[in-house]
Amino acid sequence: MSEDRKPLELPLARAVVDRAGHLRTDESELAAMWEKAAILHFASGKFRVIPHTRHKAPEADGTAQNPHLANRLDLLTSAQVEELIRSTEFSRGERFFLGIENDLPYFAWCGDAKDIEQFHQYLTLRELGADLSDLEIGLAVHAQALANWHHKHPRCPICGAATKSVFGGSVRRCTEDETEHYPRSDPAIIVLIKDERDRILLGRQKVWPEFRFSTFAGFVEPGESFEQCVVREVNEEAGIHVSEIRYLGSQPWPFPASLMIAFEAITDTPDAARPDGEEIVEVIWLTRDELKNAIRKQTLLLPPKISVARKMIEAWYGPDAKRDLSGGETWRS
Ligand SMILES: [Zn+2]
Repeated sequence: MSEDRKPLELPLARAVVDRAGHLRTDESELAAMWEKAAILHFASGKFRVIPHTRHKAPEADGTAQNPHLANRLDLLTSAQVEELIRSTEFSRGERFFLGIENDLPYFAWCGDAKDIEQFHQYLTLRELGADLSDLEIGLAVHAQALANWHHKHPRCPICGAATKSVFGGSVRRCTEDETEHYPRSDPAIIVLIKDERDRILLGRQKVWPEFRFSTFAGFVEPGESFEQCVVREVNEEAGIHVSEIRYLGSQPWPFPASLMIAFEAITDTPDAARPDGEEIVEVIWLTRDELKNAIRKQTLLLPPKISVARKMIEAWYGPDAKRDLSGGETWRS
């Protein structure tokens, strides 16, 4: 397998936890596991953390750029959760079973309060993602995706009655007709467009900050294959036809519920590329030198390090990507 044929190693797809789905249906087992669990706290869209200034991380697992500056998830015991509910304004919230690793059960607790920062430090997955270990990232991505879904599905889509969380948070069941409703992930393709000179095409969305460019992406429509979606999205946003579509990898993107499926594709009409003028306002073909120089001059900002887009661009660029492309990155807002 040549260098560029290795699967992409994607930052949010590093999970190692055994989800142990067979344990979700046993309420007494779930209750017993909760008593001895390690529990991450997700509230107001953020995770409770041990900030990097308060600990050293000698067990470098290679995931953080500098493990001594890495934030960690602050895992609680069930007694600590009960104490927070009793002594502060945190609501009882929901518990989600996330799985087992080395005989230790992991749960997420989603009790919330006003101004959570008055109690402890909390950070978003965007802020934390590059710091967390493989174990932590799997727990965090699972917890955030579940919490987002539960928050938006308090009612049955069939009869409108209230639903309640069952099976450790893996299902919501209608309290009237007992229909069961499952968490969803919305598939979205993301594509690195190349030409026959091995340049890449990046685009800038109207809503992005100045100088921020990325690869092209869009949600898969009903009845559409991934490959058809790649062809349609590229045609809509950049005005060109692509072929030779090749799968690169996938990662969850729980902002709020996406699953990003990554491809590369080739066009033989690069000069025809033009922005659609609605979603995309600028497109640009880049050689490796042109990309490096634009980043150095700060006329081009790349997407964040935990994104698929960033990894696709780095993989195309080659072994010097970390050195040459560091610095310029930005979130869309
Ligand atoms: Zn119902």
